[in-house]
Amino acid sequence: MTFKELNLIPNIQQAVQEIGYENPTPIQEQAIPAVLEGLDLVACAQTGTGKTGAFAIPIINLIHRIVGSNKKVKHIRTLVVTPTRELAIQIQENFDAYGKYTNIRSLVIFGGVSQVSQVDQLRKGVDVLIATPGRLLDLNKQGYIDLNHLHHLVLDEADQMLDMGFINDVKKIVKLTPDNRQTLLFSATMPVAIRELADKFLTSPKYISV
Ligand code: AMP
Repeated sequence: MTFKELNLIPNIQQAVQEIGYENPTPIQEQAIPAVLEGLDLVACAQTGTGKTGAFAIPIINLIHRIVGSNKKVKHIRTLVVTPTRELAIQIQENFDAYGKYTNIRSLVIFGGVSQVSQVDQLRKGVDVLIATPGRLLDLNKQGYIDLNHLHHLVLDEADQMLDMGFINDVKKIVKLTPDNRQTLLFSATMPVAIRELADKFLTSPKYISV
C-alpha cells in the first residue's frame, strides 16, 4: 500500500513525503483508515512499528479542517496520554512534523519541571495536547485544561502506564472527556487490566495486532 491510497489531505502527504516515508508501516495501513472512519481502536504494537504515525497522521487529517476554520477560539481537540516525558516529547515532534503544513498547534506537558511556561502555552490555546498523567490532572484541577471539546483521546503505551501505577489517573482522565469522543488505545501487551480498561471506555473498537 502507498500513502496515496490512504486518501490523506495533500498537506499531510507532502509532509510525509518530505520526511522520507515511502510506504505506510503495517500498523499504519490498518490503523489510518479505521481512525479516519471514526472508529475506536485497540492496537497491540511495540515502539518502532510506526505506531505514533498510526494515530498522529489520521488525527491531523481529521482536525485540520476544524482547526483551520476556527482560528480565534482554540480548544483541545486531541489529547494523547503517555507514560514518560521522553515519549511525550517524541510524540509532539511527530505531530509537528506530520502537521508541518497545517495550522495545528500542539503542546507537550509533563511533570518534574516548572508549570509556568506550560500554563502560558495553554492560555494561548492548543489543538493537540500530549501529556503525562500526573501533570495533566494537576493542571486540570487548577483550571488550566478544559477537555470538554475533545474529539480524540489516545492512550499510548497503556501497559507501561499500568506498570508505572498510573491506571487510576488514566481512569480519572478518561472521565474528564466527553462520552462521544473517539478513543484509541495502544499497548505493547494486553494484560487483563488493559483489556478491562478497553471494555469499559471504548465503543465497539477495532482490534489490530502487529
Ligand atoms: P514509532 O513506532 O512511532 O516510535 O516509530 C518508529 C520510527 O519509525 C520513527 O523513527 C518513525 O519516524 C519511523 N516511521 C514511522 N512511520 C514510518 C514509515 N511509514 N516509513 C518509514 N519510517 C517510519
